[in-house]
Amino acid sequence: MKKIIKNGTIVTAADTFQGEILIEDGVITQIGANLNAAGAEVIDAKGCLVFPGGIDPHTHLDMPFGGTVTKDDFESGTIAAAFGGTTTIIDFCLTNMGEPLKKAIQTWHEKSREKAVIDYGFHLMISEINDEVLNELPHVIDREGITSFKVFMAYKNVFQADDETLFRTLVTAKDLGALVMVHAENGDVIDYLTKKALAKGNTAPIYHALTRPPELEGEATGRAAKFTGLAGSQLYVVHVSCAEAVKQIAEARSKGFDVWGETCPQYLVLDQSYLEKPNFEGAKYVWSPPLREKWNQDVLWNALKSGQLQTLGSDQCSFDFNGQKDLGREDFTKIPNGGPIIEDRLSILFSEGVKKGRISLNQFVDITSTRIAKLFGLFPKKGSIAVGADADIVIFDPSVERVISAETHHMAVDYNAFEGMEITGEPVSVLVRGEYVVRDKQFVGKPGSGQYLKRAKYNSNLPESENKPLSI
Ligand SMILES: [Zn+2]
Repeated sequence: MKKIIKNGTIVTAADTFQGEILIEDGVITQIGANLNAAGAEVIDAKGCLVFPGGIDPHTHLDMPFGGTVTKDDFESGTIAAAFGGTTTIIDFCLTNMGEPLKKAIQTWHEKSREKAVIDYGFHLMISEINDEVLNELPHVIDREGITSFKVFMAYKNVFQADDETLFRTLVTAKDLGALVMVHAENGDVIDYLTKKALAKGNTAPIYHALTRPPELEGEATGRAAKFTGLAGSQLYVVHVSCAEAVKQIAEARSKGFDVWGETCPQYLVLDQSYLEKPNFEGAKYVWSPPLREKWNQDVLWNALKSGQLQTLGSDQCSFDFNGQKDLGREDFTKIPNGGPIIEDRLSILFSEGVKKGRISLNQFVDITSTRIAKLFGLFPKKGSIAVGADADIVIFDPSVERVISAETHHMAVDYNAFEGMEITGEPVSVLVRGEYVVRDKQFVGKPGSGQYLKRAKYNSNLPESENKPLSI
């Protein structure tokens, strides 16, 4: 079935122009003016922006954590993502020490296969490096197309890997062509500060932030970046929240190290004071790293603008306030970490970033889609409006004003972290491989229609210079 998108303003990471897009068999086959589209269904995008579907590089759907499981699974999570203009996610596949990686990956396929309504891939968590793991990793890359590995420097005695594991993962990733992702906080010191706070009877949500100070994120980021330089490898720092971490990434890049940084909407618009909301409501804002003092927001925006940070992930990791977050009512360490963000990642960046003049429209596309596709081996099939690319397309009304609320969102959780926030801009229709998933703000997709994406090795499908940071 042919479709043609007419009358819209096409936006890519590089250009903004008026044009038509012809879609055949799920792929963009022509871009131009007055295209011959006999027999094609016409999609009128008058007054709208037309840009590549968002790629969320950081989601945790149907994930066990802290004695419970995230509320959104691959069905509700990807439906909410689609409403927000995201057409691809890359979710974190957790592994268990001593268990074959194959088994963990199988579990994640089972969670997602019949549920996802948009396309998806997996990152693989690395908690140990031993002969078994080293033997399996080439198959993980070649057979599964999983070309990014996640290492946690925090969550002591749960997910945390030691420095040797991180360093060996970097060396191995370099050899195999994978990108190493790191949760950069110093878990050992956090563990000590946490115990000390609890011993003093400091159990409220705000102590979650106070026991994870920004210095410990900066320290871990700098350590991981230095290891990367030493190993000649490549690193992607997830959920950068503060000035200390931005500084370390900028410094590493200035030395020519292949280091990248992601931030998330919550760090751009919310701050540490939210953890002090009364009646335990602060628990809704417990993320790791924690929300920071407000002045950090300007640093993060400037870093996106200047390219010191390159991507926006959601770190979607949702738990109900009633029944899940309240596991920590008497002890902040028992509050499940994370929040529901998958839905409004693009809209928040558009409204707060583009509309307020902090970033350009083309940067917006790069930050939410194109750069992510390039870093994670999905480009040029994903992340682009170009002939030959998958027709993953968002038709976005840049002028509609609305208020974010749990009353109207599509995530399965009982609250929204951005409740009451007034924003401008909303996806009207969203196509995945040329098929509507959202049409005129109505869900028309089908669980199980999302395809698993085998991703290319790091930088293997890009020109030599494309993904290298500049030496300043
Ligand atoms: Zn995460």
